[in-house]
Amino acid sequence: MTTAIADKAQQILKDVFGFNKFRPLQEEVVHHCMMGNDSLVIMPTGGGKSICYQLPALTMDGAAVVISPLISLMKDQVEALKQNGVSAAFLNSSLSAQDQQKIEEEFMQGEVKIVYVSPEKLLTRNFFNVLQSVHLNLIAVDEAHCISQWGHDFRPEYTKLDFLKKQFPQTPIMALTATADKATRNDIASQLGIPEAKTFLASFDRPNLDLTVRPAQGRLETIIGLINQAPDQSGIIYCLSRKSCEQVAEKLQAKGIDADFYHAGLPSDVRDKTQERFIRDDLKIVCATIAFGMGIDKSNVRWVIHYNLPKNLESYYQEIGRAGRDGLDSRTLLFFSYGDVVQLKQFIEESPQKPLLEAKLQRMQQYAEATTCRRKVLLSYFGEQLEKDCGNCDVCRNPPQFMDGTVLAQKAISALVRARQKVGMRLLIDILRGSKQQEVFRLGLHEIKTYGAGKEHSYFEWQHFIGQFLNLGLLEIAFDQHNALRITELGKRALKAEVPVQITKPESLDERKQRLAQA
Ligand code: ADP
Ligand code: ZN
Repeated sequence: MTTAIADKAQQILKDVFGFNKFRPLQEEVVHHCMMGNDSLVIMPTGGGKSICYQLPALTMDGAAVVISPLISLMKDQVEALKQNGVSAAFLNSSLSAQDQQKIEEEFMQGEVKIVYVSPEKLLTRNFFNVLQSVHLNLIAVDEAHCISQWGHDFRPEYTKLDFLKKQFPQTPIMALTATADKATRNDIASQLGIPEAKTFLASFDRPNLDLTVRPAQGRLETIIGLINQAPDQSGIIYCLSRKSCEQVAEKLQAKGIDADFYHAGLPSDVRDKTQERFIRDDLKIVCATIAFGMGIDKSNVRWVIHYNLPKNLESYYQEIGRAGRDGLDSRTLLFFSYGDVVQLKQFIEESPQKPLLEAKLQRMQQYAEATTCRRKVLLSYFGEQLEKDCGNCDVCRNPPQFMDGTVLAQKAISALVRARQKVGMRLLIDILRGSKQQEVFRLGLHEIKTYGAGKEHSYFEWQHFIGQFLNLGLLEIAFDQHNALRITELGKRALKAEVPVQITKPESLDERKQRLAQA
């Protein structure tokens, strides 16, 4: 890497983009590319991927092509470049044939420095001819995870991009994505025919975010308690359904809290207004579905709460990432319940991608139930290893205590055997606690020998224990049998005390009271 190139890159960063310093990895990527090498760039959303290819494209002789699957994004990027005085254009099906031709001509004549194209357009014979007649200095493949069948954004056209390296062997290729799992990364490099590409993996860590997970019981009281501690702060509460967004917002309003709701079922002018008020600090709290937050650039969001479990760690990471953009300490709180897991499983039941989505949900659940540093668990999902525990998550602050769960497991499993494995979590707890509910009598569950065998523990504690048994694989949920609990082979061995059952202690009554007291 010569200093001449470095100086030039630095100069253009300042002159064209108006930035004084490179963000982490940008400079390395730019240099690597300008030396003619292929690269795979993995950076979280907002990390600054665009500069990585825009800067070399402007600095080197010739012109660059950027493949992007998102028409709206292309337009934004091109407008931003034009505002910085860069001649850029995009080509996709939103333009008339005439307009496309005009841009192609300008591109061939060297009047356009960076052209964004959709994969469909790139694969046309005509555009191939255009590419052959320009001096291509760089090929960038944005949203490169679309190449992978393992991803949820799979684009069949992206699998045909291997011709690029074959036809333009001298031109450096840069693939960029925010999805970092290993399988996807390998897929990208192999399908683009750039197995030697250097991988640049930016840190996904956001050390200023506190990561906390709590049981879902008493969610609303917990939330009100938190808000009351710092009533002036801005926050987002993510809910799974439109209805719960509305209900949560209304309940907060009833407590005199400045909250409103946002979801895709609202007219767009109402949504825009809510978003606008939130950004201007005229509205403190938004209860929203995942529809909220795309492209929101609000730096002082002080907390993000997940009322329900997100469907995977990518969504979770992106949503908590809307807190603390200004780098100041911010809080995130995730409520976990098995009810949410069951509901999310039902959503993916019919999907052709069921195995993949199930695996992702399972990783989400593992995070929520982690008994080691949560940041380690989260970052390892994105392929990053933290050397030390973070000290800024609930597990680090308050490591779980373990207890022997053998007898508890025996009680639960033998009650299940006697109930012929036809009951779900709620009825099983009713049996164990000797509940006087009508349904228990109607089903004859009060005649079971273990009826009342666990009455020294609260409903809440049993929820925790059974959650742990599910977690350890002693039990599973039979989704095809109305979510009845089923005993696994391991569970049968636990019943005979053949395997140790180590579980975490449930939140104590005092801790729980403390958590709910502020409401
Ligand atoms: P990504 O594509 O990775 O999501 P972008 O390229 O859109 O991210 O960049 C995110 C934001 O960061 C943009 O507003 C961009 O202008 C800004 N940005 C990028 N690089 C720098 C830098 N070196 N210094 C300051 N701001 C930067
Ligand atoms: Zn930690």
